[in-house]
Amino acid sequence: MQRFERRLRKLRQELEARNLDAFIITHPPNRRYVSGFTGTDGTLFITGDKVALITDFRYVGQAQKESPASELVEATPDILAQSLSDLATAVRAKRVGFESHQVTFANYCQWAETAAGFELVPVKDLVEEMRAIKDEGEMEAIKRAVAIGDAAMAHAREFIGPGMTEKEVGWELEVYMRTLGAEAVAFDIIVASGTNGAMPHATVSDRVIQGGEPIVIDLGARVDGYHSDLTRTLVLGEPDDRFQEIYDLVLKAQLAALEGIRPGMTGREADALARRIIVEAGYGEYFGHGLGHGVGLEVHEGPRASKVSDDVLRPGMTLTVEPGIYMPGWGGVRIEDFVVILEDGAEVLSQKGKGPLGCLG
Ligand code: ZN
Ligand code: ZN
Repeated sequence: MQRFERRLRKLRQELEARNLDAFIITHPPNRRYVSGFTGTDGTLFITGDKVALITDFRYVGQAQKESPASELVEATPDILAQSLSDLATAVRAKRVGFESHQVTFANYCQWAETAAGFELVPVKDLVEEMRAIKDEGEMEAIKRAVAIGDAAMAHAREFIGPGMTEKEVGWELEVYMRTLGAEAVAFDIIVASGTNGAMPHATVSDRVIQGGEPIVIDLGARVDGYHSDLTRTLVLGEPDDRFQEIYDLVLKAQLAALEGIRPGMTGREADALARRIIVEAGYGEYFGHGLGHGVGLEVHEGPRASKVSDDVLRPGMTLTVEPGIYMPGWGGVRIEDFVVILEDGAEVLSQKGKGPLGCLG
């Protein structure tokens, strides 16, 4: 339970710095990060010396087990506003922060109506910023999730053959990761063959995979709540010249970023390491997304690496490095590896460059 105490201490310092008497946490990954509670219904009310966890009847036993340090308040979601107001009144709170980027407008209106004698103060990304730097226990879970993703990619090279559908490939990869101990897949697996690969977030379809066309596979595993995220682009049989050209370019851009990323850089600078190479080769307009994102309790979290990101990379942060080129009517190539930022650079956690990345058989 030590890690929760540590996180709470840090959170309380932040509340004090913002002159807040209490803070409401509603976003499930943030709630889990601070309290350990993993149920789907639960709200934390945190003050300088207590943590109240509001949840409903279904989760009481689970909450006691996962979050023994929290004071349990049993309430159904429809009376949440009243419960929060009661808690704030009981501690004579004047300024109560809430996660403005996570609370619906309808909920906010309800809370504001019920709030008596205290002010609701919007706070953005407070716990998210704490979560961006991973501790040792988190890194352990992440490494296991990355290893399972890597193993699934190695497996993909062995079983995929012409005539299989994208759905069949996706299902085999999902079962394989679960067999290796993943508690779930991190997100809907992407198997985007041929022209489908031009859509960066295609999922799986009944399309039959053919020889000679690119197949973008993007997958991840979840272990103890932590995710991995990995992409490989494969070809069955002989790739054509165009594939080889685009693949080599994406790989060159990715390796430049993997080698160049340093703590202290902004997300924009990291993105530019890869983007520059793709733009110079004339494919800039086909790389329409950012270079990467942090991964942890959520698949997409801070920091962001993109053309517009001012996030500063710091030791202990995770980051995917995933340049891609997508050509409508042809297909796409994306290569995504997973790094952790160190004091003097970045360590690649996934199996970068082990065996031929691009071509099968
Ligand atoms: Zn991905
Ligand atoms: Zn990603």
